[in-house]
Amino acid sequence: MKIFKFGGASVNSAEAIRNVAHIVQQNLDTPLLVVISAMGKTTNLLEKVIPGVPSDDDERRALLQQNRDYHLSIADSLFADKGDATFGRLHELFDQLDEVSTRKATNYNFDYDQTVSFGELISTTLISGYLNSVGISNVWVDVRDVIRTNENYREGIVDFDTTRRQANSQLSTLNSQLIITQGFIAGTASGTTTTLGREGSDYSASILSYCLDAESMTIWKDVPGFLNADPKFFSNTIKINEIPFNEAIELAYYGASVIHPKTVKPIQNKGIHLNIKSFVDPQAEGSVIGPFKVIEPMTPLYIFKNNQVLISIQPKDFSFIAEDNLQAIFAMLAELNIRVNLMQNSALSFSLCIDYNEILLEHLRQRLEKDFRLVYNSGLQLITIRYYTQDIIEQIVAGRHILLQQRSRTTTQLLVEDKA
Ligand code: ASP
Ligand code: MG
Repeated sequence: MKIFKFGGASVNSAEAIRNVAHIVQQNLDTPLLVVISAMGKTTNLLEKVIPGVPSDDDERRALLQQNRDYHLSIADSLFADKGDATFGRLHELFDQLDEVSTRKATNYNFDYDQTVSFGELISTTLISGYLNSVGISNVWVDVRDVIRTNENYREGIVDFDTTRRQANSQLSTLNSQLIITQGFIAGTASGTTTTLGREGSDYSASILSYCLDAESMTIWKDVPGFLNADPKFFSNTIKINEIPFNEAIELAYYGASVIHPKTVKPIQNKGIHLNIKSFVDPQAEGSVIGPFKVIEPMTPLYIFKNNQVLISIQPKDFSFIAEDNLQAIFAMLAELNIRVNLMQNSALSFSLCIDYNEILLEHLRQRLEKDFRLVYNSGLQLITIRYYTQDIIEQIVAGRHILLQQRSRTTTQLLVEDKA
């Protein structure tokens, strides 16, 4: 079996979905399992309609309607038969989402997963229905019955044993050449929905590749492969043809958006090759993550993370930052599932750089303000350069104010003020 993953950008319009159908059709010589994300920017929209997220009822209604209209207009142009049963299924999902979104807020991470998971349920329902309607016969699988996590909402921890058992009993026996399922979402033992963290669909594909001993995994992207920098930030990018598993893990950890950080480990354990290919040019070579020694070609690699905030935490009692303080701070970060992108310690203050999220920042402040003073600096960009030289650093930073810099033999990280 081969595993394909299509992300939001590859299914953001009727035309894009027709292209996906074409790629899938060209690859049905072996059994294929296709993992699909929410369409376009749907997850961002759904993050704004989570119960308790500050937005008035009118705004919530407008966003929910916008989400409905977006998907229905795509479905409208894809389906020749406007009476296709898929429309009924979609309306059911939209109605359920309306209901979930207008519930009373409970726990933010729990509410988050119950709401944003609809993006993937809707996209796969629409695409699976469309493929069937044009004769590409497939089975839609609810991945929440396959990938099992604990109840760590918004970042579920995968139970690989149960997942492997469920994957083999449910997927291997389906007797279908093509399976369509959701990325990003999963289920707990008690049947509630969890998610695997933003951009987690790559990870979903990797979990399934591992559990099903896939012969290969392919992530279809809007770029020609694994580039040495995000083309959104950089004009002269170079495609890396071969990436060692460990290098890919490092790059993802630093925030290379081409791949989700947890994706590589499972496939590395089984030696499964991960192809990154362009859905715009499916015949082109792409990149391969595999058991290589070094990147090929060798070149500096750049990773940019926008919308960062630097938090400096100082004990109120003017004590030094010591192990017991750090322990309290890390416990809060873990409890809130806040990932630290960079940290630095001095005698009087502990600084950490995280992705900006108003709600989580407020929770963090509330929990720490009794014992600590918190100072924020927002609107920052975190730049990571692997295989750097001093010249390259100067070129990239070019006179911008550096708030924090760290450097190892191979990698430097710079936290700078965002370009206005
Ligand atoms: N739809 C989710 C997100 O946008 C998961 C993914 O795209 O991988 O984060
Ligand atoms: Mg996405």
